[in-house]
Amino acid sequence: MENSVRPSSAIAYVYRGTFVHSTQQTALQILEDALLGVDTEGKIAFIGEGKELEKLSQTFGFSTSEVTQLEQHEFFMPGMIDTHIHASQYSYAGTALDLPLLQWLNTYTFPVESRFKDLEFAHRVYTQVVKRTLRNGTTTACYFATIHTDASLLLGKIANDFGQRAMVGKVCMDRNNGVKHYKESAQESQDETCRFIKELLNKKYPLVKPVVTPRFAPSCTGALLGQLGAIAKNNNLHIQSHISENVEEVQLVKELFPESESYTDVYHKYNLLTDKTVMAHGCHLTDEELDLFRETGASLSHCPNSNFSLCSGVLNVRNVLKHKVKLGLGTDVAGGYSASMLDAVRRTLDASKVLTIQDPEHNTLTFEEVFRLATLGGSQALSLDDITGNFEVGKDFDALRVNVAAPDGPIDLIQYEGPKTHLEKFLNLGDDRNIMEVFVAGRKVLPLTEPTAE
Ligand SMILES: [Zn+2]
Repeated sequence: MENSVRPSSAIAYVYRGTFVHSTQQTALQILEDALLGVDTEGKIAFIGEGKELEKLSQTFGFSTSEVTQLEQHEFFMPGMIDTHIHASQYSYAGTALDLPLLQWLNTYTFPVESRFKDLEFAHRVYTQVVKRTLRNGTTTACYFATIHTDASLLLGKIANDFGQRAMVGKVCMDRNNGVKHYKESAQESQDETCRFIKELLNKKYPLVKPVVTPRFAPSCTGALLGQLGAIAKNNNLHIQSHISENVEEVQLVKELFPESESYTDVYHKYNLLTDKTVMAHGCHLTDEELDLFRETGASLSHCPNSNFSLCSGVLNVRNVLKHKVKLGLGTDVAGGYSASMLDAVRRTLDASKVLTIQDPEHNTLTFEEVFRLATLGGSQALSLDDITGNFEVGKDFDALRVNVAAPDGPIDLIQYEGPKTHLEKFLNLGDDRNIMEVFVAGRKVLPLTEPTAE
């Protein structure tokens, strides 16, 4: 095991036991009887072996009696990263799964999203989605809100209050023939985006950042896309949107932007493909478009529950990885009906198996690879891998304390089977009952603490 040491501030706490995570080289690295220390800034100060306890306690100045020992059926894993979730759609998650994308947006999504000008309604929904995702082990979420600036700012506040790492996007759209009152003018969208960014940054929330969010090309004029590309560039901000989710949508983009070579080219033209861009879906991208993703450093968010639920398509993740495009997983609530990243892990495996059923030559993803996509892959997709994604010294401690044998939990362990089996069982069978504690940047955020009233 690598014994990494980082000169640091004082040690806040030390855990001893099994740690599982991914590295660039290894989809699943298991560290048994390991010692991990977190400093007072919430960063990983050291990772070493149990037998080095005395030495580490002297080097880092902590008492060996203060070390917390994990149980045999427990392990730590990195917090999961939801690279694509619509916080505003959480209110109807689990319903409205009977229409394809464009009809689904007009029938269910836009009428609900237009309600978020009501801040009381927004507060209720946003509080629930942040609490639910934290309970399910989402330490970082990349959220779409709605077109309403004040409600989007409220989502940022709620994520900050509960201690979740979040990227929050005020949605931009100046084209909507389905629900005519739910749109902005290009000028309004630009002005409100600037106000949103300024006000959110002024709050100085340590873990919550704004992300420039054109809904998707069919909802935006070229003029607006160009303005948003410039705003992102001038402020060095993240960008999120959707791409190539279903065939009808790809055709519509062709009609709306006849001058562009491809859907990807539309975003590229307007400077919306950067190494801080994450695009949801990409089910129908061509190899040439994937090349453009790699060249620009833009990433994809794979949202298989949504792709199945809206019958959109099946992304070939193996092909995306072959093109060396960064990829993370997303729940895409409410196109995806589950807000749990464990569900995204399972549906990713299912999607890969569907491709193998269709073509036995297809190389099915392993659970270890999908585990990496849900953690380190997500951090890379959001360009946050210098901060989170695995247990590297110097990164923030974003972690789940998992007990596979939690009392009254969903997993029956007949005998001790070792950490790799424990992880596989948790990923396939586990739920929030197995997640005993959640840490974000070293702070324990689960069990949840309700924010105190101002
Ligand atoms: Zn989406």
